[in-house]
Amino acid sequence: MSKVAVVTGGTRGIGAAISKALHADGYRVAAVYAGNDDAASAFQQATGIAVYKWDVSNFEACATGLIRVTEELGPVDILVNNAGITRDSMLHRMTLEQWQAVINTNLNSLFNMTRPVLEGMRSRGFGRIINISSINGQKGQIGQANYSAAKAGDIGFTKALAQESAKKGITVNAICPGYTATDMVRAMPQDVLEKSILSQIPVGRLGEPEEIARCVQFLASEQAGFITGSTLTVNGGQYLS
Ligand code: NDP
Repeated sequence: MSKVAVVTGGTRGIGAAISKALHADGYRVAAVYAGNDDAASAFQQATGIAVYKWDVSNFEACATGLIRVTEELGPVDILVNNAGITRDSMLHRMTLEQWQAVINTNLNSLFNMTRPVLEGMRSRGFGRIINISSINGQKGQIGQANYSAAKAGDIGFTKALAQESAKKGITVNAICPGYTATDMVRAMPQDVLEKSILSQIPVGRLGEPEEIARCVQFLASEQAGFITGSTLTVNGGQYLS
């Protein structure tokens, strides 16, 4: 039987590219999304990949959703924690709602999604957990104290869990994309994108979602078993950690 991969935020942007790449590699893929039914159904029709709707910031929803995935596809072998949002604001103007939404979706979701699948991975002696962090979790970013804190937290989570899980055949790694051509980046004002972002990227362009997906394919593979606790920086040279 082929392995089962769950990709959160797996119907759009980077996550959609990851879902498609793992599907092409022969995994049974569950792509989780939050609320954009039109995008999810277009994705499902175009790819044949199973889609599931739940909110990764809600622990009970994750536990229930993962039971459904297990019943329909099988036990989860590969978990890609990719879902993320931004609610940008300078901290002196940031609302509690903006802070909590980003921490809940981008950081607490790693606990919510990983906790229900971890014991199964441990008992089967295999697992791959890949957390999509961000360049802005590595270097910090003006207007993103919430996002930078959550994404830096993802890296800490990765390092701790990697050590806890190493003897059980489970690897845990983080990928830190730089600016990548998805809706999240397209939502930025064009002049900010050109003047403040593209000029800072030595490679001279945005990343493509497929370039992040290639890294996930590699980290998910059996051959990547000696790589754990690592942070893979994929940012066109913008920030060298
Ligand atoms: P997009 O905004 O293009 O897509 C986000 C995906 O996450 C959608 O499928 C969305 O579902 C899903 N999602 C959002 N919130 C939730 C939730 N609460 N529960 C379940 N699913 C949710 O994002 P990107 O592809 O740009 O980003 C993917 C990841 O990469 C994020 O973690 C982001 O922080 C990170 N990243 C992105 C960079 C970039 O430049 N794009 C740079 C560095 C990191 P729905 O379609 O229903 O809304």
